[in-house]
Amino acid sequence: MSSFRYKILLVEDDQGILRFLRASLKDQGYDVIEATTGADALQMTSSHCPDLILLDLGLPDMDGNAIIESVRSWTRTPIIVISARTTEQDKAEALDRGADDYLSKPFGQIELMARIRTALRHTNTSAEDDGIALEGKLRVGELTVDYRRRRVYLGERDTGLTPNECRIVALLGRHAGMVLTYRTILRELWGPSASSDNKILRVHMASIRRKIEPDPSEPRYIHTEIGVGYRMAEE
Ligand code: CA
Repeated sequence: MSSFRYKILLVEDDQGILRFLRASLKDQGYDVIEATTGADALQMTSSHCPDLILLDLGLPDMDGNAIIESVRSWTRTPIIVISARTTEQDKAEALDRGADDYLSKPFGQIELMARIRTALRHTNTSAEDDGIALEGKLRVGELTVDYRRRRVYLGERDTGLTPNECRIVALLGRHAGMVLTYRTILRELWGPSASSDNKILRVHMASIRRKIEPDPSEPRYIHTEIGVGYRMAEE
């Protein structure tokens, strides 16, 4: 068994939630460091280099979104937002500023731990990779994304996705298990000045789903986070 332990910075001003999360994380074998204000969170991020940050947005001295922006100006350390704010706009804003994932309170402990494992695995496998091009393949159920060939297969059959459709699936596949906002997808695929009109994405997604989903009205592979973005299922 590996003796390596991930260090998680827990940023939360509610003592009850802090106690619950601290116990849950330690129980899973994580080292936990804590901050109850935004200023402390920033200071501890730079001095302790955590492997992951769990961030409450409503803090006494700063808004969590400002913390995300500040942290992102110097590090790609994964940030999972845990917040009582539940609107689509709140989620999209945090993700667009650079959060990796978003959980609305109240959330289940099992789901939180799964999201943490996904975020940590993601940094381990793609920290150096800033394009869509990637060696290897992603397999989810019957679906195979071949990154090198830029083809997507269902079983043995080529799904016949167009190049743009392939790029969307490859991008989501590279971040499997995580939600990508519409804006992130548009920006990654068509550059920083891409239109912010989600309509083009919805049209592409409808076509992708007709080609890869056994039942496009009940997607198995690419899930919609309504008003926020899309999430590729994990292996
Ligand atoms: Ca709070």
